[in-house]
Amino acid sequence: MPASVRAGSLKDPEVAELFFKEDPEKLYSDLREIGHGSFGAVYFARDLRTNEVVAIKKMSYSGKQSNEKWQDIIKEVKFLQRIRHPNSIEYKGCYLREHTAWLVMEYCLGSASDLLEVHKKPLQELEIAAITHGALQGLAYLHSHNMIHRDVKAGNILLTEPGQVKLADFGSASIASPANSFVGTPYWMAPEVILAMDEGQYDGKVDVWSLGITCIELAERKPPLFNMNAMSALYHIAQNESPTLQSSEWTDYFRNFIDSCLQKIPQDRPHSDDMLGHAFLQRERPDSVLMDLIQRTKDAVRELDNLQYRKMKKILLQEDHKGQTTEVQDGDEVCELNSVGSNQSIPSMSISASSQSSSVNSLNEAAQDSRSELDLMEGDHTVMSNSSVIHLKPVGGVTREMQEHEQDSELREQMSGYKRMRRQHQKHLMALENKLKGEMDEHRLRLDKELENVHNQFNTPTIHTEAYTDHCCCFGMYENQSTPKKEKQEWLSKQKENIQHFQAEEEANLLRRQRQYLDLECRRFKRRILIARHNVEQDLAREELNKRQTQKDLEHAMLLRHHESMQELEFRHLATIQRARAELIRTQHQTELTNQLEYNKRRERELRRKHVMEVRQQPKSLKSKELQIKKQFQETCKTQTRQYKALRNHLLETTPKSEHKAVLKRLKEEQTRKLAILAEQYDHSINEMLSTQALRLDEAQEGECQVLRMQLQQELELLNAYQSKIKMQTDAQHDKERRELEQRVSLRRALLEQKVRLGH
Ligand code: ADP
Ligand code: MG
Repeated sequence: MPASVRAGSLKDPEVAELFFKEDPEKLYSDLREIGHGSFGAVYFARDLRTNEVVAIKKMSYSGKQSNEKWQDIIKEVKFLQRIRHPNSIEYKGCYLREHTAWLVMEYCLGSASDLLEVHKKPLQELEIAAITHGALQGLAYLHSHNMIHRDVKAGNILLTEPGQVKLADFGSASIASPANSFVGTPYWMAPEVILAMDEGQYDGKVDVWSLGITCIELAERKPPLFNMNAMSALYHIAQNESPTLQSSEWTDYFRNFIDSCLQKIPQDRPHSDDMLGHAFLQRERPDSVLMDLIQRTKDAVRELDNLQYRKMKKILLQEDHKGQTTEVQDGDEVCELNSVGSNQSIPSMSISASSQSSSVNSLNEAAQDSRSELDLMEGDHTVMSNSSVIHLKPVGGVTREMQEHEQDSELREQMSGYKRMRRQHQKHLMALENKLKGEMDEHRLRLDKELENVHNQFNTPTIHTEAYTDHCCCFGMYENQSTPKKEKQEWLSKQKENIQHFQAEEEANLLRRQRQYLDLECRRFKRRILIARHNVEQDLAREELNKRQTQKDLEHAMLLRHHESMQELEFRHLATIQRARAELIRTQHQTELTNQLEYNKRRERELRRKHVMEVRQQPKSLKSKELQIKKQFQETCKTQTRQYKALRNHLLETTPKSEHKAVLKRLKEEQTRKLAILAEQYDHSINEMLSTQALRLDEAQEGECQVLRMQLQQELELLNAYQSKIKMQTDAQHDKERRELEQRVSLRRALLEQKVRLGH
């Protein structure tokens, strides 16, 4: 493991220079929690040097998976350092303290998701257009620099005081495109991210998809499929039609914009840059749309906070009357009280630099103590309302976020485990592919060398032993004879002259003949030489040709052998990769199934728990019904007694005294009987009530169980369908790969054979 991978290690200078060396505790004050995410918390804070307000994301890298957390921090910091755009959050630096990175950035009022949470209703179309426009500009900037955000959603789109839109949370971002990791938040994930393992890669268009989902989120408060288990949502996205807006109140511009963003096939989906020209964004809208929205939200937050404040005040006053420690009935209020006290979270209206004491403390103290504190709180409250820095989250908003995180921790854990597994699988496959590629290169190199050896062996330059022989010619000489005496002198001299003349002539003739002879001989000789040379050359050429032929034959045999061994290796590699991939997909599917089954069990357990609660509460409602019946019975009894008394009086008046006794006895008997009937009726109606009540509850519960079972069954079927689709896709992919390889190999073979043929 390289040193920089170990959590907190600054050995690598490239990592060390990412962080400032100062102690952040000494540089920033007034920290108050304003957001809560998977890694920890985000704080409002003030820079003591400049008095500037900032946001600080504290990310711990201790405990479980600390090295992984450290890597994530380094990645996020590196990413933030690289980007600079009006529509992405401005980064100010990072500090380290006690196994926690303090990531300092510009302060924003809150996220688009906070807006939805405050208003509890969708945003207006022009507001959505303005937010989407800002976010899309940020995305187009990222994409033009080959980066991908990969976690676009309302919760990660922030708004500033002057109404700017900022992309935030680069914890999932990719510094390179294309990418292939399984990253993001399920409901917003593009289909190709979910299928990334099987089909390879994706690019910035995944952000365009998530932006489309975010539009639906802003228009309907939640992304599509949000009522579904995150796992099931994944399968849904991967294989169902793209979602659309539910209500018909939206314009065609908006619908069309979402349709374009949510094209399932990435090739059909426009780039972020192209989307910027869409009429939905280009349509005219007042400049003040976002400022008005922010003002509207601030007002609503203030209203909500005042409500909470009054509630709290009432509770405290009650407590004050009772003079005992806090024990409040209302669950909500208890929760608020706790959150403020123990978690040090603050009311949304963060106090600007001018205010003195934190509202957290004042509320806290007030809860613990007396009336005078309450007055103090009242004073503080006015300060809060006048403050200029207001976060767009009502009191308890942060607590809610934290609770959501804790409640879903089991599912979250499951999802992050699943994500981790998929990423590991991808890494594993890539490593395997690289390893095999290396092996292949090595193999090819070895074969090439072998071939070269053959070449060298035969190509030792053939020296043509040129058989040139030098040729020399020799010449013989003629001798003359002289005549005696004086007379003869003239004659002689004449003769001599003649002879000389003749001699000269003869000599010339001889010379000519000799020259002719010589020429002839020379030519003959040259011809012989030429023929000899030609023969030698021919022999040599033949020999060379033979050699070349042998070499070619050898080479071809070798090439064929190489081809075969290459082909064998290629097929083996393909098989290895495909086997590995199939195995990874199998374990992935196994995990998906286990997760889904666990989820199903959990849902059933929850329903059972709910039913037990209902059954436990049943006596309460029964008692009231019983009481009601009893009352009716009592009423009837009373009436009967009254009637009995009237009858008795009447009878006593109309009958002689002697018969009074008998009449009274009869009357008494009759009354007893009537009362007994009533009692029986009472019992009966009670029983009936009980049985129908129990029956109704059972029926309702049974119905609920049925619905749940059906829903879970459906989700399981969805998973099955998804998995078999993946399996089919993988099989098809494997087939395609094999076919392509076969084609490649046979083409290579054909070329080789052609070469061999031409060689002959
Ligand atoms: P996570 O990776 O856990 O989603 P985020 O970076 O998205 O973390 O931060 C979590 C929440 O904190 C955001 O949804 C937002 O409400 C708040 N937050 C983050 N950054 C800022 C900021 N610069 N200014 C104001 N609030 C912020
Ligand atoms: Mg986030």
